[in-house]
Amino acid sequence: MTCEICERQKAKIIISQDEEQKQLCLGCYNRQLSAELNVELQSQPEAFSTTDYAGVRREFIITQRLNPVGILIEAEEKKEYGYKFAVHGELDCDQVELFQRLQEKVKQGITTSYVTTRKFPSGQQVETIKNDKIVGRLDYDELNEDTPMVVIDGKPYTWEQLGKMVQAFEGFQIKVKMVDMTDNVE
Ligand SMILES: [Zn+2]
Repeated sequence: MTCEICERQKAKIIISQDEEQKQLCLGCYNRQLSAELNVELQSQPEAFSTTDYAGVRREFIITQRLNPVGILIEAEEKKEYGYKFAVHGELDCDQVELFQRLQEKVKQGITTSYVTTRKFPSGQQVETIKNDKIVGRLDYDELNEDTPMVVIDGKPYTWEQLGKMVQAFEGFQIKVKMVDMTDNVE
């Protein structure tokens, strides 16, 4: 689907206006909202990279999105089912500061890992939960319509795989809490 305004970029956003639906690319959508809201989006770096808990360099693509109540900036790792982080600021916020907040959130988010690989004398390798906590993200699984993918440490896991990892905790209580992408997981 191509954007109805520029007719060049891929349409990513569908907006409904006066019973009409418009399909726009992110750039055209932002320009339209910028005019409507009288808010200028400042240009931000298109990408940045930083090292994770294991010293591995991770590359992130940055996208900004205006919405009627604020500005959303996302950092998505340049790979399928990788890390993803987002921050939200008011329309009149300091956008440079908002971007710095995102960078900080990425750095914070990738310094801790939750899954570790245990090697058995037999040579068998099993992934287990490092301590007693995991933080991850639910993502759409193209190969499975029934359950979403759980991305932990920038790596995708199925619920079956996650189930195996929590097996060691049989007899424990479990707490599952959903947190908006722009909020901080405690
Ligand atoms: Zn466009």
